[in-house]
Amino acid sequence: MTTTDIADLMDYVEVLERFDPVLGLEVHVELHTNTKMFCGCPTTFGAEPNTQVCPTCLGLPGSLPVVNGKGVESAIRIGLALNCEIARWCRFARKNYFYPDQPKNFQTSQYDEPIAFNGHLDVVLEDGAVFRVEIERAHMEEDTGKSLHVGGATGRIHGADYSLLDYNRAGVPLIEIVTKPITGTGARAPEIAKAYVGALRDLLRALDVSDVRMDQGSLRCDANVSLMPKGASVFGTRTETKNVNSLRSVERAVSYEMRRHAAILVDGGEIVQETRHFDESTGATSAGRRKETAEDYRYFPEPDLVPVAPSTEWVEQLRTTLPELPWERRKRVQAEWNLSDLELRDLVSAGALDLIVSTVDAGAESDAARSWWVSYLAQQANSRGVELDALPITPAQVAKVIALVADGTLTNKLARQVVDGVLAGEGEPEEVVAARGLKVVSDDSALLAAVDEALAAQPDVAEKIRSGKVQAAGAVVGAVMKATKGQADAKRVRELVLERCK
Ligand SMILES: [Zn+2]
Repeated sequence: MTTTDIADLMDYVEVLERFDPVLGLEVHVELHTNTKMFCGCPTTFGAEPNTQVCPTCLGLPGSLPVVNGKGVESAIRIGLALNCEIARWCRFARKNYFYPDQPKNFQTSQYDEPIAFNGHLDVVLEDGAVFRVEIERAHMEEDTGKSLHVGGATGRIHGADYSLLDYNRAGVPLIEIVTKPITGTGARAPEIAKAYVGALRDLLRALDVSDVRMDQGSLRCDANVSLMPKGASVFGTRTETKNVNSLRSVERAVSYEMRRHAAILVDGGEIVQETRHFDESTGATSAGRRKETAEDYRYFPEPDLVPVAPSTEWVEQLRTTLPELPWERRKRVQAEWNLSDLELRDLVSAGALDLIVSTVDAGAESDAARSWWVSYLAQQANSRGVELDALPITPAQVAKVIALVADGTLTNKLARQVVDGVLAGEGEPEEVVAARGLKVVSDDSALLAAVDEALAAQPDVAEKIRSGKVQAAGAVVGAVMKATKGQADAKRVRELVLERCK
């Protein structure tokens, strides 16, 4: 049996009554360096297959690799941001295995000498609790090529008629970040796994070392899960669900594996140490290959590359280049904007915080910036079914709209129309204002004409205002606003109406 039917899973609550989960998360991040890790080939995503290759990344005899300095620099910055120690001296190693997408028959990686080790990442959960995930290591390696299996129903090699290979990705710099075993999570294991990968993604984005696009594979997570009987201290056999490609899927895959393991264990069965695939559509995992051990790879130091020995000066200089990290930014913003824990959490979970900070950085006042992103723009994202940061409007454009409201060029209502225009691809805010003719009408003569017209159309109302019932002016103001398509300043219109009826 290769797949466990969903009906065979143990109820999640029961899993936690009987077992403690242990997680191990391995995240691969593709660096967005201009060139590959050991040759000068470009790394552009989506290029024609096999157009970004050379003798080195194809592993042709006689070719020699050279380390990408920018790749090492990124690895050290990631290590520092994860509170790791940085190796004074380390080497690359050959991880030997045959696979068609690996033309050299070995992957250049690091084995017992990673560039960064012994760190931690504090992960903030949805209720504000902080969970510390210990980092075992972050090491440098190269990506493999891509196989495309054609003809099968599943897109996997089984049942395919033939396979195509694209080596453009072979040799693209990767950093693999490996946690120590994560224990003590209890029922929150799936949530913690998701939050960890999310926090890592935010961190890598702040460091500007990768595109961190899970959907494009530039950030990939392998989730190791095992169970041990409640109170035990010896870990159970683990399975490794490979290449989970969204945060939500990380959470689902962990939960699924916990429930599957528990059902097998209480039935007296044994967990097979293997890799597994996660199916987005069913939420289930299925068996992949039996897991190799380190001995199977016959690691040995790479003889064609010199060791990497970053000087203390260089490491300390790189430390000064670390940006404001996501959690530091949150603390600062919370203090500056005077937010409660709950308000801060809502902004973070809505994906609005960084957008608001960028809008403020672009010159907007923080209350206005917050208001736009959490109300009108959140509604727009919601109705389009996309994340807030996927809306086709930049923080700088939102800041511009806010400035146009502040200087009286736009009312809030007009400003929403300008934002609609930007979202519709009509250009910059000023261009939308000009093209749609959305400026506030502040010219009194134009307004007076509209006021006179409205008073003439409602003579009884005009009479009431003249006899002192100023509250009746509302109807006339409303008519003028309608006639000017909302482009008048309502306060000024009211003043003009009262003036006219003196
Ligand atoms: Zn190359």
